[in-house]
Amino acid sequence: MVKVNPFEDTLGRLKALAKYCKEEGVRFRPEDLDVLSSPKRTLIVNFPVKFKDGSVRIINGYRVQYNDARGPTKGGLRFHPQVDIDEVKALALWMALKTAVVDIPYGGAKGGITINPKETSAEDLEKVSREFIRQIHDFVGPDKDIPAPDVYTNPQVMAWMLDEFEKIKGVKAPGMITGKPLELGGSLGRDIATSLGGAYVLKEVADVYDIGMGASVAIQGFGNAGMNFAKIVSKWGYKVVAVSDSKGGVYDADGFDVAALVAAKEKTGSVVGIGKGRKVSNEELLLLDVDVLVPAALENQVTKENASKVRAKVVLELANGPVTHDADQVLHKNDVVVVPDILANAGGVTVSYFEWVQNLQGYYWSEEEVFARLEKKMVSAFREIHELVKRLDIDHRTAAYIIAINRIIDAEKKRGNLNQKESM
Ligand code: NAD
Repeated sequence: MVKVNPFEDTLGRLKALAKYCKEEGVRFRPEDLDVLSSPKRTLIVNFPVKFKDGSVRIINGYRVQYNDARGPTKGGLRFHPQVDIDEVKALALWMALKTAVVDIPYGGAKGGITINPKETSAEDLEKVSREFIRQIHDFVGPDKDIPAPDVYTNPQVMAWMLDEFEKIKGVKAPGMITGKPLELGGSLGRDIATSLGGAYVLKEVADVYDIGMGASVAIQGFGNAGMNFAKIVSKWGYKVVAVSDSKGGVYDADGFDVAALVAAKEKTGSVVGIGKGRKVSNEELLLLDVDVLVPAALENQVTKENASKVRAKVVLELANGPVTHDADQVLHKNDVVVVPDILANAGGVTVSYFEWVQNLQGYYWSEEEVFARLEKKMVSAFREIHELVKRLDIDHRTAAYIIAINRIIDAEKKRGNLNQKESM
């Protein structure tokens, strides 16, 4: 597998936008893109934690606040053995673009800790989570920077972090973190928001590109994003024919009973435990002959090495960064519609925004209200992007990037952060 630096790859994407700067409706100039070429603030912390086996380990943690022109920064926290600064920078930049695509009043941030939660006890994870907040508490807050869950973090981790933050500050501040348990001010619907948002977008895509009910779907990754997506679309009549997790995957052209997959994952630790269908590797899953491919695990899955072999009609990026810049160009040439991460998985941050709004108001919404507002946001973002796709004859990622960067640059200009020739 080629090693791609996701941050450098995204900077390549930004540079490639310069050629659209003269098009009607594109409000930034090539030189304006410099403001997005590096993060506004980066915090790297290395701190000791005494584990329950008596050993003291130095833990590496990161928080990158990429751009805050449009509001407080927002983005998840990842616990994974491969977390490094380039991954966190790329994820933070994508968050800045994502919040702009769905037009919510935030900038973008991301954080992470280099740790393997699968080999760490809950007690030690709690210590690491609380100590991380002690390290970064001056850097985050409801009107500064608001973390949320990401890969291998969950509502319990958010609860420990909120509790530690509130103890340090001596106030209640539920809006400092989202994806919390309901008991601590979480929002109804946040648990499935990323997947439901992606499913609303898929419905729009299916209308435009004539993908009928019963269409086949392959999903890589069976965690919060992938599993909930499988549950939702199978209820809507799509056929989930392949799924995988870090231990491997399974394929059955007749489709799986998603409840049985969930039960197998719970019982055996992997979807492979369902004992039905043909075993496939994560690499094979990406190349199956399906209508819709949904990467919902990690970055750099479709690269220039395998892009020409992708047979899906639509790639819906529930994961962040699963398709590289080179691969995008191959897929576009082959008429594969890629629904970019900054739209496809923006349902998570959208409902995180709703959670924060509810926390600030101290007034909580019903699940129906949350879902109705989510659907409106996702559908209008898709339609706006699709209009630009048609008008400029470009792919959906390029259109989404143009719309997001228009909004970020407009805000930077109003703040007086960019050189301006034109009069007010
Ligand atoms: P999660 O921790 O709940 O699940 C991750 C899943 O990926 C697990 O099933 C794991 O087995 C699988 N996985 C790990 N390594 C893999 C590999 N090498 N090959 C195949 N599968 C592998 O994480 P999540 O929250 O579902 O996040 C998944 C993706 O969705 C990430 O890219 C994340 O950034 C993105 N995302 C999540 C949210 C959210 O709200 N949870 C929001 C936006 C984007």
